[in-house]
This record gives sequence, C-alpha cells and structure tokens, in this order.
Amino acid sequence: MTTTTALQAASAGAPFEVTQVPLRDLRDDDVLIDIKYAGICHSDIHQVREEWGKAIFPMVPGHEIAGVVAAVGPGVTRHKVGDRVGVGCMVDSCGECEFCKDGQEQFCAGGAVMTYNGRGYDGEPTRGGYARQIAVTERFVCSIPEGIDLDVAAPLLCAGITTWSPIRRWGVGPGSKVAVIGLGGLGHMGVKFAAALGADVTVLSRSDAKAQDSLALGASAHVATADPKAVKALRGTFDFILNTVSADLDMNLYLGALKPLGVLANVGLPPSNFSIRPGFVVSGSKVVAGSNIGGIAATQEMLDFCAANGVGASIETISASEVDAAYERVVAGDVRYRFVIDTATLEAPL
Ligand code: NAP
Ligand code: ZN
Repeated sequence: MTTTTALQAASAGAPFEVTQVPLRDLRDDDVLIDIKYAGICHSDIHQVREEWGKAIFPMVPGHEIAGVVAAVGPGVTRHKVGDRVGVGCMVDSCGECEFCKDGQEQFCAGGAVMTYNGRGYDGEPTRGGYARQIAVTERFVCSIPEGIDLDVAAPLLCAGITTWSPIRRWGVGPGSKVAVIGLGGLGHMGVKFAAALGADVTVLSRSDAKAQDSLALGASAHVATADPKAVKALRGTFDFILNTVSADLDMNLYLGALKPLGVLANVGLPPSNFSIRPGFVVSGSKVVAGSNIGGIAATQEMLDFCAANGVGASIETISASEVDAAYERVVAGDVRYRFVIDTATLEAPL
C-alpha cells in the first residue's frame, strides 16, 4: 500500500495536521485521482466535531472533490488518464438493490459507502478529499465537462447535487415562486439553479448583509429574517421553499410562507429536532420533505447542466493551512460562498 499527503484531524474537534495517510492499491475498477481542489462542506464540520454522533478518527474529510485521472485499473472503461473528474459524498454501494439499479445509490439497501467517516465493504475506513490523491471505484467518479473550471466545479459534487436534487424532484421551473433559507454553500447553489431553471427566487437570510449578493446570484428579492414579522409578511407566497440552514429553525414560521399544496424541502442537518404544529401542514395540505444528496446519474446530469448554462460555485480558494480558520468562518455564516482548498498547498510533511 502506498500513501498520500492529507489534512487529518486526530480526534473530534482537533486542529488539522498535514500527514501521510494510506492510499489503497488500485483495484481492477479503480480510478486514481490527482485531487486539485476540495470544497469545505458544513457536513465536514458537523462530522469532525462529532455533532452527528460518534465518528471515525483519525479523519480526512472532504466530499467535494475535483481533479484529474492519474491512473486506472485494468477493468476501467469510463475514465482514462488525464480526464477531468469529480467525486462527491459516496464511493461505493452494493450496485444490485432496487435503489442502486434506479440510480439512487444514496439509498442503497446494503448501505452506501460514504467518502470519509465511513467503512468500505472491506471494513477499511474511508478517507476524503482534503488530500493529494484518492482511489475510487469508477462507478462513483463523474466527468467534469470542459467549460467548468475545476475549482468552481468541486462544490458541485455535494452542494450542487444536494440542492439540484430537490429542485428537480419538486418541479421547480418557469413560474415557480421559490424561497431559499440560508445563503451559504448549499443555499447559493439553490439560488443559482432555481434562477437558471426560470423560477422567481427570494433569499431568506438572517440579515441584509448578503442582499446585494442575493440579487447577483439570480434572486429577485432578499428578505432579512431576524425579525419574524418580515417572514410573516410573506404569508402564502411560495410554491417551494428550500431550507439549507445548518442550525435550529422555527419551521412553523416558514410553513406560513408556503402557498396551499406548497413544499418545504429540508436539506440542512442540524443535530437538533424540528417542531412542527400539525395544523400548519394540514391547513393548506402542505408538504414537509427531506432530501439526501443525489444519485450518480443525477450528479452527472447536474454537472452537464452547469457546463451548458455557465453555472459554477462562487468560491474563496484557500491553502491547507487556512482550513481551521475557514471552519470558524463557515460556522459564523461568513463564507462567500464556498471555501475550496487548493490541494497543491498540501506540502509533504518532513
Ligand atoms: P453553510 O455554508 O454554513 O450555510 C448555512 C447557512 O445557514 C449560513 O450561510 C446562514 O445563512 C444560515 N445559518 C447558519 N447558522 C444559522 C442560524 N443559527 N440561524 C439561521 N440561519 C443560520 O452550510 P452548508 O455547507 O450550505 O450546509 C448547510 C446544511 O446542509 C448543513 O447542516 C449540512 O450538514 C447540510 N447538508 C445536507 C446535505 C443533504 O444531503 N441533505 C448535504 C450537504 C450538506 P445566512 O447568513 O444567509 O442566514
Ligand atoms: Zn457536503
């Protein structure tokens, strides 16, 4: 087994260290990727800090991976050396259950293998994209079309597919009145996608600090939600609300902003519970939905849409030594709108 240079957290909440981590020998269907950029998702922070429960340490996070194929196993047919590729939240699944066959690998009956903080079917812990290289089964490697730079493509592999998936499922398009709660990594992609698909988009953000950005990203309105009266004033306005907030939220307040038959799709994953008064969904026959990333075919469809429509993430590129500080800024809601690690700054440790 060889190794690769990576950013690793030794234990929950520990600062990152540059170190060498194992890199598996290439399997028959493996693609070896030289990682160029890795996005920082709020889920990385939840997991490194064990906010979702016990995690596997040491941990190399990162499930927004963009790079170039460095080598392929003998059985690989989908990718070749030099191809621009991406890897998201999953690196394996059984491939045989009804969900895998339907292109919904995230619901694999045998359990999809997460890119990091998971275990492969061989029992070995998985390690993610804050690294120079990764080996991934070709089925979980997407093509990044020409026309999207690798740095702005990296966040599409999680923030992109996670917002694309519910927006497509619930039929957002021309004529839809859409609201996105929380203008962070996921939220800003939700705004870009809904606007690109022809919807009229309102951003619901805590303050007015990001108001100009909302309009530049494609929204027609920005509402500061710190005063609940501003949300109450939107009563019965939206067909579809996408909640991307990483913290507790007053769902009953936002349900009021839906039209009858409207859908509030939640992708945020705070560790707390939501409280929903039944009358607020019964009245107006509203839907509260969840949505979990998206399958590999949908991820490729989303990447192709981005290339065709000039959509990419809005990013701040950082070096490996800036990741701890970047985490603090993400938690403070101070990211515009995704941090992306330039993995060339991961120097091999002495
Ligand atoms: P992010 O970049 O930190 O964005 C979250 C946004 O929520 C912030 O920018 C902020 O927007 C708002 N926010 C933060 N704290 C808040 C608070 N206390 N009250 C109200 N609003 C607050 O995070 P992200 O990477 O987009 O991820 C968002 C959530 O989605 C995380 O919980 C993450 O784990 C989850 N996630 C889920 C999936 C899935 O498959 N469902 C996939 C990836 C991530 P404003 O400043 O505009 O208010
Ligand atoms: Zn993510």
